[in-house]
Amino acid sequence: MPRLQTSPTLTEMSLAALNKLNADPDGLYLMIEGRAVDRAEHANNLGRTIEDYIEFNAAVQSVIDYVNSPGSKATFEDTLLIVTADHDHLPFGPECETIPFQRVQEDRNGDGVPEYQWFGKGHSNQLVPPFATGAGADQVLNLATRVDSVFDAAGHSIAGSGRSYTDQAELRKFLLGQVEQPDAAAPEAPVDWNAIAAQVTRASCPGPPRGQSRASSAST
Ligand SMILES: [Zn+2]
Repeated sequence: MPRLQTSPTLTEMSLAALNKLNADPDGLYLMIEGRAVDRAEHANNLGRTIEDYIEFNAAVQSVIDYVNSPGSKATFEDTLLIVTADHDHLPFGPECETIPFQRVQEDRNGDGVPEYQWFGKGHSNQLVPPFATGAGADQVLNLATRVDSVFDAAGHSIAGSGRSYTDQAELRKFLLGQVEQPDAAAPEAPVDWNAIAAQVTRASCPGPPRGQSRASSAST
């Protein structure tokens, strides 16, 4: 699908925001989201998914180049850059409705891409990787103190990858602490991790493809 020429790229929007925020003497906080990837995966649209990966990677590179440029007040000595996702979609094989947990298949129809179907009815509970660089990056990675488990449909832990992870609530708390927000130090109700784990059900096969995505800016 050709790009709309009237629509700015994610890189252009990111640089516009940085140019504006660069003038603030207190520094800056900026959240940039590559949004189309989620909608594309819900719609089983691999081409659009790849396009948004490319656009997102270019935006990340533009932020790195900006911070390293002479015109930027921020440097990586005093600026933390985190790249991560809020969730994942699991790709399965094309017959996964009859073959549970079927793997993605090699290209059969010669269109140059594998045969697949995204977990389109919802989001997977697969871990998403965080990348961090700059001031405090080590502290972000040190937040990963929990150990991954895999749960069955009843919420019982049946296996684990053994990989360490953190969750978004801890990351939020850390970031608030970095900008010295008053509520960062406020006592919070203890988190019931067992109750949360019980809600996590194992990802299952998606339903039929949903067709093409609509143009929309709705959030996930
Ligand atoms: Zn989604």
